[in-house]
Amino acid sequence: MVAMAEPHSLVIANWKMHGSRALVQAMLDELLREPQLWSRVEAVFCPPFVFLDQVRQRLRHSTIAWGAQDLSALNGGARTGEVSASMLVDQGCRYVIVGHSERRLQHREDDELIAQKVARALEADMVPVLCVGEDQAERARGLTMEVVERQLQPVLGADAPVVVAYEPVWAVGGSRPATPGEALPVHQHIRSLVQARGGSSHALRVLYGGSVSVDNVEQLRDSGADGFLLGRSSLDAAPFMGLCRKLEELCSISS
Ligand code: PEP
Repeated sequence: MVAMAEPHSLVIANWKMHGSRALVQAMLDELLREPQLWSRVEAVFCPPFVFLDQVRQRLRHSTIAWGAQDLSALNGGARTGEVSASMLVDQGCRYVIVGHSERRLQHREDDELIAQKVARALEADMVPVLCVGEDQAERARGLTMEVVERQLQPVLGADAPVVVAYEPVWAVGGSRPATPGEALPVHQHIRSLVQARGGSSHALRVLYGGSVSVDNVEQLRDSGADGFLLGRSSLDAAPFMGLCRKLEELCSISS
């Protein structure tokens, strides 16, 4: 991890169900080619589970972290297909994404299950990256803050580092990101809810996610986010490295 006093950004690459050993290898080669970039940009690479060992072998002597896209709400045992928190720790994962909107929608994960997953991550000393955000209909009905507040419950009062990614569902995999004006009040609300429940502002990082690209990342910094959760822009080395270089430049200017 980089020293917190320096302006820096946290960038999490969520590869979802993409990739192959060869593509992971190519991506890691590119990341490791520019070690100077990772002092101001704290990168976390989240491939599918099956590539975690490959990533661990390759990144373990670098400053780039890695993580998983999900974990089981249960501990070990007769749980076919599940991957536990301790297995992820064994693979060197520092971070784990929890409650991504695709899991909420496609796998019917509810708030209770997500709270259990966050608890497993915290017990294992991993940093949960809790995804929160309203869908289009909820935004239209003015329910954004209410939805975010409800989804935020699992990390309120946590006495450990946590990451909250505000990912409006309508912007994830969509054609436009939230504007800084739409995202800023939500980011502020998340910070104030965590602080009101006794959480340390130093231990909380708030990310924005949803249609972030090299072309809009500069503008999206005005949303007050500590960094970004990326889907499509993280899948190929060129756009990902371009975005990270731009963030590095912006962090240097503001230092
Ligand atoms: C995501 O799925 O978390 C995401 C932010 O996707 P995209 O960047 O492709 O919108």
